[in-house]
Amino acid sequence: MAPTPLAQPSQAVSRRRWLGLLASPYPRRRLLLLHWLIACVVYVGTAVLLVAGVDQGWMRFGALLGWSSFVTVVLLSGYGAIRSGWSERFADPALTQWQLSMGVIAVNWGYVICGPMRTAALFPLMVVFVFAAYGLRFRQIGWLTLFTVLCLASAVAIRQWLPAWIDSAQPPSPLQVDLYNLSMIAVVLPAFALVTARLSALRKKLRDQRAQLADALAAVERLAVSDELTGLPNRRAMLETLATNTRHARRGLLPVTIAMLDLDHFKRINDTLGHAAGDAVLVGFAELVRQLLREGDVLGRWGGEEFLLVLPGATAAQAQQVLWRVQAAVRDQLLAGQPVTFSVGVAAHRGSESAETLLSRADAALYEAKHAGRDCVAIASGESQVAADPI
Ligand code: GH3
Ligand code: MG
Ligand code: MG
Repeated sequence: MAPTPLAQPSQAVSRRRWLGLLASPYPRRRLLLLHWLIACVVYVGTAVLLVAGVDQGWMRFGALLGWSSFVTVVLLSGYGAIRSGWSERFADPALTQWQLSMGVIAVNWGYVICGPMRTAALFPLMVVFVFAAYGLRFRQIGWLTLFTVLCLASAVAIRQWLPAWIDSAQPPSPLQVDLYNLSMIAVVLPAFALVTARLSALRKKLRDQRAQLADALAAVERLAVSDELTGLPNRRAMLETLATNTRHARRGLLPVTIAMLDLDHFKRINDTLGHAAGDAVLVGFAELVRQLLREGDVLGRWGGEEFLLVLPGATAAQAQQVLWRVQAAVRDQLLAGQPVTFSVGVAAHRGSESAETLLSRADAALYEAKHAGRDCVAIASGESQVAADPI
């Protein structure tokens, strides 16, 4: 049997691998290299036109070779700096200013050497200024414009007064054509640069607005999951925490026990001292309890003067011990000048029960704790527990 023809797909794979090597595994660098590739295409296109110029006898091959060597060095060093990540030490890892300045030099170098084609050789400046809108600020675009006009003035001067540098196949042309080109560029380029700078400013404004939006979104997300008064996770966040923990418990990954905490006779504090004092008690209570818990336990405000505590990895008896300790600490301390106690209902997750069932069992246990005289911990029926509060 003839062997399966594997050559084509494997070539495709290895081509892709080469492309991967040439590009970069990092998306940011890949984008910069894409811009570099566009510059490459423009340079190569210009080189092809220059070859046609040599063919027409408008310029010498030696001049083309000098220009191509310069462009090759610029392209390779740009590629190396971006691909290796070296350029990332700068504020602009695309090295836009450097790349565009080199582009301006390449255009004007081309202008000097390419004889009657030189007006057309100025067109790539458009690409330079479109790229400027991407990476340069207003002031930098101004400098680039000035640099371009000065470069062209130097190119005109070289053409006229230093013809020995040109290596041109043509006799020197009339100065008027070059002066006309220079004047045209000096008039058109600032206007072009102004529009480019406006585009660049617009892009910056959009970037700033996007950053502001991201900040606002982060703030909204934070507010959506935290309780405004105590700063604890709110009911919505606690439902998420509970769902995650019961899911893990159902899969047998980690058991979980929950406790519903409710301040005793809290209404009295409000009624005698006012709502603001009640708020201060809630804040003090939240702060104190949070400090007493170990890392990994999650306390949230369930609503009003009720708090939910999720204890991943704890049994009901362990949770009971923790809560006795917390009750003792709260008992020993005045909160906003008030003695405060609280009752607790504890329930350990069982088998495949849902978060809702677990919550309702903890609620029922809390009800029992209130009936048993408050300031105590009741465990949902069927759980093993420590015999009595040691205090
Ligand atoms: P029990 O021991 O049976 O729990 O009695 P209690 O007074 O604590 O319970 P009750 O449910 O009768 O009253 C709870 C009070 O909590 C009523 C409500 O006005 C008050 N409350 C709820 N949310 C807040 C709040 O954010 N701030 C203040 N200051 N009070 C609140
Ligand atoms: Mg209550
Ligand atoms: Mg209460």
